[in-house]
Amino acid sequence: MKIGILAVQGAFIEHENMLSSLGAECVELRKKADISDDLDGLVLPGGESTVQGKLLNELDMFNILKDKIKSGLPVMATCAGLILLSETLSNDDRRYFQTLPVTTRRNAYGRQLGSFKRTSNIEGIGNFEMVFIRAPYIEAVSDDVEVLASVDDHITAVRYKNQLGLTFHPEIADDARLHQYFLSMIE
Ligand code: GLN
Repeated sequence: MKIGILAVQGAFIEHENMLSSLGAECVELRKKADISDDLDGLVLPGGESTVQGKLLNELDMFNILKDKIKSGLPVMATCAGLILLSETLSNDDRRYFQTLPVTTRRNAYGRQLGSFKRTSNIEGIGNFEMVFIRAPYIEAVSDDVEVLASVDDHITAVRYKNQLGLTFHPEIADDARLHQYFLSMIE
């Protein structure tokens, strides 16, 4: 199984380490030519969505990745990656792939709560320690989006067809169950 990991900015190494430990082959996507036709999955890591969005355009990677996601390539998006997928951002005029029909709030917990951990249930997985770093949360979802987890009434994990969107960082937890879940979406 070959997973492309967007590697223009942010926390991509951690995803790579975790997916490699589960037996997947990982390819860092740093430029357009890295996006091969035989990818089985895509990871959009956390980081800074504005920087990632800008680089995706400058490196001419945006359209080809959007087409792949729209045509069903399984994608796991964490934090900034989720912001890139979101159809609408409630507190920002920028828009990116817009393939995931949810409304997301950037930096939703404010500066004082820049970073924190909470354990909460994830549908089909069980209790999971969620690490939030200047995290967004999902404010609203369309009817066909499956809500997998919430913390304090704010949605933190969703599944919509081929897309898994997470507001937190499972790649830095010592717990590979969400990455395993993503690999099972591919199989
Ligand atoms: N605050 C970042 C953004 O708006 C996301 C933070 C993260 O990915 N940990 O893009």
